[in-house]
Amino acid sequence: QPDLFSTLKGNLGSPYFAPFQNDKEKGWIHMRKYVIAGNWKMNKTPDEATALINELKPLVAGASCDVVVGVPFVDLPAALEAVKGTAIGVAAQNCHWEKSGAFTGEVSAEMLKAMKVGYVIIGHSERRTYFGDTDVTVQKRVRAALDAGLTVILCVGEYLEQREQGVTGEVVAMQTKIALGGVTEEELKRIIIAYEPVWAIGTGRTATAQQANEVCALIRNTLAGLYSWTCADDVVVQYGGSMNAGNAAELLAQPDVDGGLIGGASLKPQDFAAIVAAAK
Ligand code: PEP
Repeated sequence: QPDLFSTLKGNLGSPYFAPFQNDKEKGWIHMRKYVIAGNWKMNKTPDEATALINELKPLVAGASCDVVVGVPFVDLPAALEAVKGTAIGVAAQNCHWEKSGAFTGEVSAEMLKAMKVGYVIIGHSERRTYFGDTDVTVQKRVRAALDAGLTVILCVGEYLEQREQGVTGEVVAMQTKIALGGVTEEELKRIIIAYEPVWAIGTGRTATAQQANEVCALIRNTLAGLYSWTCADDVVVQYGGSMNAGNAAELLAQPDVDGGLIGGASLKPQDFAAIVAAAK
């Protein structure tokens, strides 16, 4: 779809702040701090969570990026205990927008805050596809998470049909705009955006580095429109969708890709650690 990103052509990255600076050895360095987050989905019991994190800890001890594990609700206590004394952050995979009430099966952002959970993944395509999450409920969850002091990993991304019809840019911009409705400049500092093309999640079909960068840049452009380039430049925009130890370095070398949200590979400590090592 050559015209999809025409507004961005020749304007990848901000006019005010180059994402790359000269570096003697590599020729460039990535200026935003990378964030590599695992999304374990509905995998691992609490004991298995402890074991996985214990295996991961020495492998990522020297990481130059932020490392987060996104675990099922029941694993949160075990994960929080296991990461103590390390820099690894812990994320929940969803939260409800009300503080408490008659919402059987739900967990509120306030409850996560009380447990000292630092991050929450919101709007993952599996929540949108299988559990009825909409742009509007995503916005409400984001609001509750920010009010509770959490850092949000907000997921956006198009279905294959949407990409084929040439509306990726529109879809992703709309999801971003609605999710961030009411979010202030100050609160934006606690937002990470994960661009996750739905067709690449759990399929082994990764977006090319160019496709990933184009949409991450489009998201940053959208943020610049909503806030300013100065704000947009500071936001971490991750790519997610079958990122693995083999393709991470190329994806992460893109100027607008500031990290990854990793599903399958985050369940294998060696693979996840290899992705973390590529984020530098
Ligand atoms: C995800 O669940 O967010 C994801 C990107 O999964 P996978 O890496 O398995 O495609």
